[in-house]
Amino acid sequence: MTDLALWFDPSKCLINGEWVAASGGTLPLFDPSTGSEIGAIARGQAADIDAAVAAAEAARRGPWGRMTATERGRILSELGRLVTARIDDLARIEAFDVGKPLKQARADAVALARYCEYYGGAADKLMGETIPYLDGYTVYTLREPHGVTGHIVPWNYPMQIIGRSVGAALATGNTCVLKPAEDACLTALAFADMARAAGLPDGVLNVVPGLGSEAGAALTAHPGIHHISFTGSVGTGMAVQAAAARNVIPVTLELGGKSPQVVFNDADLDRALPFLVNAGIQNCGQTCSASSRILVQRGVHDQVLARMAERYDGLRVGPALADLDVGPVISAKQQRIVAGFLAQGADLEVAGRATLADLPTGGYYIAPTLLAGVSPAHALARDEIFGPVQVVIPFDTEEEAIAIANGTDYGLVASVWTRDGGRQMRLARAIRAGQVFINNYGAGGGVELPFGGMGKSGHGREKGFEALYGFTTLKTVAAWHG
Ligand code: NDP
Repeated sequence: MTDLALWFDPSKCLINGEWVAASGGTLPLFDPSTGSEIGAIARGQAADIDAAVAAAEAARRGPWGRMTATERGRILSELGRLVTARIDDLARIEAFDVGKPLKQARADAVALARYCEYYGGAADKLMGETIPYLDGYTVYTLREPHGVTGHIVPWNYPMQIIGRSVGAALATGNTCVLKPAEDACLTALAFADMARAAGLPDGVLNVVPGLGSEAGAALTAHPGIHHISFTGSVGTGMAVQAAAARNVIPVTLELGGKSPQVVFNDADLDRALPFLVNAGIQNCGQTCSASSRILVQRGVHDQVLARMAERYDGLRVGPALADLDVGPVISAKQQRIVAGFLAQGADLEVAGRATLADLPTGGYYIAPTLLAGVSPAHALARDEIFGPVQVVIPFDTEEEAIAIANGTDYGLVASVWTRDGGRQMRLARAIRAGQVFINNYGAGGGVELPFGGMGKSGHGREKGFEALYGFTTLKTVAAWHG
């Protein structure tokens, strides 16, 4: 890892402002682009989570708890400036750790800086209300932090997910314990170190890397945690919610999706085409909001399929730092999961597929694959694959498109491509998803846009001003003064 020029020790936890060895020792760190073991990260366990929660509890009773919202906002804004100054370093670390092309990692670093800037500016804009009430009373509400918030972050977009959850939690005055994924924890440590440099008091942001089954489970079950923010799989999300239920604390769950793009005959195909493919292959398809289903009205189906296939055939796959179109998936485990899905779809028509050539042996590569003529009932059209695989599904009518779009357990993101204004509005209402885009997909990822799921995509909203409500609890004060 020496060529990454890390300025912190990745084999340690950051607890109460100090780099400390984890009680479980270390875990091996692998480079997804080569499959080689290239270092070690901390294996945090229950004892380290205990120490981190104790530090966070002490910190919220210390100067942090007395700081004004404006002062907290200034620290976050300063952190945004420090992140911006190190964007290239952070992008390189993230690209290497996750296996994503450098330009995609750079966009993540830019987003992290933007979250700090946004929540820094928002910190002192969150207000309670006064409520008209009985004669002789003045009633108002206070928005108060939950206390110590737990953040379980997956490996696909560490910087973006830390920005949106930790950024909002700090802006509202919480103290945090962050458990990054064992497969990608480097930028979490870098960020927490930079937060200290920005003036965040010790103990306000603690990072304990380790296994989900050890550090993650200990964090979600800890009685000293007052809110949990989790992003990851449905199964683990259910376990996190069950653990939180035992302590009766709120959770925000973001559990991925099977997000459709619906293309009608009258769509602007030249505009749509790049979005249709990019939304499926970005970060090698390992994106909660990846668009893995492309629903195309029969009149333009063959044309859309042919143009998407052409793009797939030309995709360049390679190591993260080669900065091509697609990198490896995160791990050997993820490679097996995606290969398993492709095996289930062995009888489907492959419309387009990238060629794998000149790749480092041992890297976790999967050829991006476009499948055609897929029944909406097929597993590949219903289950989250989390790899560079898209299915194209034909439809005839608007009603049929809505039924197919809503025909999975998920409801995270959707897009509609049509020039018909009435149809745009009808589908925006009819599709079950936390975000619906019209004639675009993702709107550039805007940090300002509330984000979260319906159905098994989860509940609660992060990003935007809305997240500040989720990271606070409401107190009603009723004063009788006669
Ligand atoms: P998980 O849901 O298991 O992991 C997500 C996060 O949860 C990681 O930080 C993980 O830690 C942690 N974790 C795991 N087990 C527990 C637990 N018992 N208690 C608390 N935290 C835990 O997903 P995987 O990484 O195993 O990926 C499997 C599938 O999940 C993917 O194929 C994809 O479908 C989906 N996924 C969805 C994501 C999204 O953005 N919505 C992100 C990642 C995965 P650790 O990794 O260290 O074990």
